Amino acid sequence: MNKEWHKVLEIIKDQVSPINYKMWFAKASCDGEVDGKFVIFVATHFIKQEIHTKHQDVLEEAVKQILGKPIPIDLRVSSTKSRSEENPEDDNFELNLFSSTPKTNITNLNPKYSLENFVVGLSNNLAYAAAQAVIANPGLSYNPLFLYGGTGVGKTHLMVGVGHALLKKNPNLKIIYSPLEQFTNDLVQGIQTKSMTQFRTKYRSCNLLLIDDVQFLSGRDSTQEEFFHTFNDLQGKNIQIIVTADRPPHEIQKLEPRLASRFQGGMMVDIQLPDFDTRVAILKAKCKEKGDDIPENCLTLIAENISTNGRELEGKLMQIIQTLKLTGKEFNEENVRFLLGKVSVTSGFKIDQKKVLAGINQYFDIKMADLVGPNRKKDLVRSRQIAMYILYQDCKLPYEKIGEMLGGRDHTTIMHGVEKIGVILNTDSEIQKIIGEIKQKLLD
Ligand code: ADP
Ligand code: MG
Repeated sequence: MNKEWHKVLEIIKDQVSPINYKMWFAKASCDGEVDGKFVIFVATHFIKQEIHTKHQDVLEEAVKQILGKPIPIDLRVSSTKSRSEENPEDDNFELNLFSSTPKTNITNLNPKYSLENFVVGLSNNLAYAAAQAVIANPGLSYNPLFLYGGTGVGKTHLMVGVGHALLKKNPNLKIIYSPLEQFTNDLVQGIQTKSMTQFRTKYRSCNLLLIDDVQFLSGRDSTQEEFFHTFNDLQGKNIQIIVTADRPPHEIQKLEPRLASRFQGGMMVDIQLPDFDTRVAILKAKCKEKGDDIPENCLTLIAENISTNGRELEGKLMQIIQTLKLTGKEFNEENVRFLLGKVSVTSGFKIDQKKVLAGINQYFDIKMADLVGPNRKKDLVRSRQIAMYILYQDCKLPYEKIGEMLGGRDHTTIMHGVEKIGVILNTDSEIQKIIGEIKQKLLD
C-alpha cells in the first residue's frame, strides 16, 4: 500500500465511525501525488459520492497533515484498483450482512431487555401503554410507534421488549432489530455488491421491524430514500414498525419532510427521565437480575444521588457493587455514601453551552487552541468528540453550531463524532465515567 495513504488512513480511522471507515475508506487504494493531485481509487461511483459529500473535509485535512501541504484530491472510480482482493487482512472488514436473513432473529433481540424486567413509572407509562397496544394489535393500532427520549431512558429496552413479547405470542415471527447504523451498512453493501434484491427481501419480508436511533438518518440521503420505501412497503402490508430516536421527528435535522410526516403519522410517545420511585425500582430490578442482594436503604441512597437515567443508575450500581466486593467491605449506607462521593447529577439539569469547551480543556488539561484546532492526535480527537457529544446531547445544539464552536468543522464531522461516542458509550464504562465527571464539573 502507498505509504502516505497508510498514514492518511490512520488519521481518518480516528475521525469517522468504524462503520464509515469500513464502508468508504478501507478498500480504497492510492497512487499518491500525481501531477499535483492526490489520486485515490474507490470501487464505485456511490462510494465516491459518499466520500465527496460527507467526508471530503476529513480526507483533505488528513492528506494535508501527512503531505504537509494542502493538495487537491482526485477521487477516481476503478473497481480493479480498489483493494478488495489485494489485501487479505481486509477480510476482517467484511460486514456480515445477510448472514441472519433466513433465520428468525431471535438471537438479534437482546435477551436482557424483556418487558418483565422493564420498570413502569410516571416517566414511561404512556410509552409502556402504547407498547402494550402494539402487542395486542401489531400493525393495526399504532403504526409506526415512535419512541423518543434522552439517552439511557429505556427506549431500546422497551422496543426490544415488545419484540420478545410478540415472539412469545408467535414463535415463527420474523423480527428484525437493527440500529440505524446497521440498516445503512446493509444498504451500502447491497449497493456495492449489487445485491439490492437481497437487501429489500431482508427488510421487507419481516413481520416486525425495529429500528433503533433513527436520529442518525440526519443528512443521510440515500439511507432516507431507502428507508422511506421500506417503510411504505411494510406499512402498506400492516406490518408493525417501531423506531426510536433521541428527539421527536421535527427536531431531527436534515430529515426529509416526507419521512418526518410518516413518523408523525403513527403514535409518537416520549420517555422522560425516571422519577425517584422509578429509579429505586430500576435499581431493584437490576439487583434481582444479577442476583445481588443489596439493602433497600443503599438503593435509595443511590437513587437519590443519581437522578439521571437508567444507564447511569445501572453503571453506578455495578461500580459500587464491584468496588465493595473487591475490597471486601460491607454493603451499608456509610460505604455506599463514600463511594457515591459528590455525585449528584440532578434531573432536568441544563449545561451551559458556553462552559463546555473550557470544562473539557480543564478536565483533559489541553489548550483551547488545540481543542478547536486541526491537530489530529488521538487524545485530542477523543476530547473533541466528547465535547461534540455533550454539546449535542446535553446542550441540544445543532451540528452546524457545534462545528462553528469547534473551529469551523463541517457538520458531518460533528455527526460522526457524536455517533462515535454514542457507540463507545454502549460498551465502555470508562468513557461513561469520564463524561459523567465532566458533566458533574460543568454543573458545579
Ligand atoms: P436508551 O435506548 O433510551 O438509550 P436503554 O434502553 O439502552 O436506553 O437503557 C439503558 C439501560 O437502562 C439498560 O440497561 C436498561 O435496561 C436500563 N433501563 C432504562 N430504563 C429502564 C426501565 N424503565 N426499567 C428497567 N431498566 C431500565
Ligand atoms: Mg438505545
